[in-house]
Amino acid sequence: MRIDVVTIFPEYLAPLELSLAGRAREKGLVDIRVHDLRGWTHDRHRTVDDTPYGGGAGMVMKPEPWGEAFDELLAEGPATVVFTTPSGRPFTQAVARDLATRERIVFACGRYEGIDQRVVDEVATRAEVCEVSLGDYVLNGGEVAALAITEAVVRLLPGFMGNAASLVEESHEDGLLEYPVFTKPASWRGHDVPPVLLSGDHAAIAAWRHDQAVRRTAQRRPDLVAASTLMDDVEIGPAE
Ligand code: SAM
Repeated sequence: MRIDVVTIFPEYLAPLELSLAGRAREKGLVDIRVHDLRGWTHDRHRTVDDTPYGGGAGMVMKPEPWGEAFDELLAEGPATVVFTTPSGRPFTQAVARDLATRERIVFACGRYEGIDQRVVDEVATRAEVCEVSLGDYVLNGGEVAALAITEAVVRLLPGFMGNAASLVEESHEDGLLEYPVFTKPASWRGHDVPPVLLSGDHAAIAAWRHDQAVRRTAQRRPDLVAASTLMDDVEIGPAE
C-alpha cells in the first residue's frame, strides 16, 4: 500500500517515519510519503489560507495549493482520498478494514477552519473521496487523525501482525469489546487471575471470554449492543 499525507506540518507526521512505518517498510508492506502543502504555493509567504466568504471567525484553506497538490499526486496513479474532518463519517474498525483494501490512500490534513469545500467536490470528480472524522470533538488539524487512521489501517495489512489471530480477537472486530486480559503472576497485590484461565479447559476459557466481552460491551458501550448478533446467548448482569 502507498500512503501520501498532505499537510502544512510535515514534521507532525514524524512518528510515521519511525516506528510503524519503519516496521511496515522493512516488511515492504507500505510506502509512506509526507508532502508539505506549501510546496504547491507560489507567493513569497507560501500562503495556504484566506478569509472566509460570508464572514466569520478564522481562516479557510485556499483551493489553489490543494488543487495543484492533487493534480500532481493523482497524476502518479489512482488513490482513495481521505479528507480528515469532524463533519466526516466516524472512523471505526469497519472503516479501517475497508481502507486497508485500497492500493493507495492520500490524506488531506485540514487546518484553520478547514479546506475550501470546492477542493473536496473537485477531487470527487476524479478520485474516490472519503471524509472521515476521528470522533465527535475538534482537533487543531487533521494530522493526528491521519496518524491514527494510518496506524489502524497499516496494522490490518496482511503480513503486518506476526499473529493474525490476535487481530481477529480484538475489540470491535466482532462488534464486541475485548474481554479483560491477564498475564503472570497469577496473584498480584491480592488480585487473582480468574481461575478459569488457569484451568487449561479451552472450551471453558472461550465461553468465559465471550461472556466477559458481552458483559463489558453491554456495560460500557450499550450503543454497540443492538448492532451485535453475538449478544443473544448471554444474560446481561453485573461483571464477575
Ligand atoms: N471549523 C471546523 C468544524 O467546525 O468542522 C473545524 C476545523 S479544525 C479546527 C481544523 C482541521 O482539523 C479540520 O479541517 C480537520 O482536518 C481537522 N480535524 C479537527 N477535528 C477533527 C476530527 N474530529 N476528525 C478528523 N479531523 C479533524
